[in-house]
Amino acid sequence: MSLFTHVEAAPGDPILGLTEQFLADPRPNKVNLGVGIYVDEQGKVPLLECVREVETRLARSPAPRSYLPIDGLPAYNRATGKLLFGDDSPLLAAGRVVTAQTIGGSGALRVAADLLRQIFGAQARIAISNPSWGNHHVIFRSAGFELLEYRYYDPASKGIDEAGLLADLEVLQPGTVVLLHGCCHNPTGVDLDANQWHRVVAVLKERRLLPFIDLAYQGFDRGTARDALAVRLLGEAGVENFVVANSYSKSFSLYGERVGALSFVGADRDEAARLLTRIKATIRANYSSPATHGALLVSGVLESDDLRARWEEELGHMRGRIHAMRAALVEKLAARGAPQYGFFVRQAGMFSYSGLTKAQVDRLREEYAIYALTSGRICIAALNEANLDYVADAIAAVSR
Ligand code: PMP
Repeated sequence: MSLFTHVEAAPGDPILGLTEQFLADPRPNKVNLGVGIYVDEQGKVPLLECVREVETRLARSPAPRSYLPIDGLPAYNRATGKLLFGDDSPLLAAGRVVTAQTIGGSGALRVAADLLRQIFGAQARIAISNPSWGNHHVIFRSAGFELLEYRYYDPASKGIDEAGLLADLEVLQPGTVVLLHGCCHNPTGVDLDANQWHRVVAVLKERRLLPFIDLAYQGFDRGTARDALAVRLLGEAGVENFVVANSYSKSFSLYGERVGALSFVGADRDEAARLLTRIKATIRANYSSPATHGALLVSGVLESDDLRARWEEELGHMRGRIHAMRAALVEKLAARGAPQYGFFVRQAGMFSYSGLTKAQVDRLREEYAIYALTSGRICIAALNEANLDYVADAIAAVSR
């Protein structure tokens, strides 16, 4: 009898389980549409040129690695603030934004969850879109939040259930945290348009809710500035307080470096400064301080005009490839008698809710070695010239 004899195994992660099954599949034409990362035309995770350049420079003049400050590398936080809020942001100028480097976007969510739970106490509530990224529920539940859901995706139109969304926000109690995907909604790929954002922001402000923007795919839909629309609109609308968790995992293809940040907007400079002390205390209690390397890479790119331009170009290439794959898939499906998938080009980012049923997803896997999530989520970035026809054949076949 060990001290841990009674410990039961945690439930397995469904996405990781799918990957294991995919890797074990001996069929040569297999395709993994279940992945959650951007892969290039060759199916590889790219190493961006701009990142490689900074890494080369760093290697040329190696530096010792002391601890970073609790809230991370100052240059990284400064650059992040500008990227999210805009170079000329009045909020930044007024000192109302505080930003702390975190362990990926997940770390930002966790630190924010812990801190907001402390601030709001046992009343802490968060409303999450239906559906959402599974870790949203996991993180906020384990931080002690009561979880609520707002309507978001409309399976019939493959678009936004705007009436349902607004109605659900209207009845939330003031002070409820409302988690919104800034762009490239995971898992649906369905985003609010500019008009819908305006209407949502108006309700958030009017109802005194706390907007919490999760921006994990900035630059993957229309470019870094346009994809930060939600953040900019909240500022312009004069919303006193809101929170942003952002991630560079995808936009810099630096998944394993765990680069993200947490920003809080305070009503004034003084409030923001107090919030920063609380963010730091929360980080201290979690992991003490973040890691150096990824932050040096990201800030090295963002702080240099030419590397920044190269990054925007490389990001544009990833974005362009996703758009091209969406268009090609729609065209190929239509040519195979499946015109109902035109909505793929209206969705944003790497993911699409395909509308494929669990039975169709099972058939794709069993008959064609094509792996997708049972929800029907597929990763568009997993498509390339080599597998596109095969995937279109298979989706058209199971859709008949
Ligand atoms: N938010 C969303 C919506 C995501 O999809 C992800 C990554 N899958 C994250 C946050 C977290 O990103 P990171 O890998 O940087 O922790």
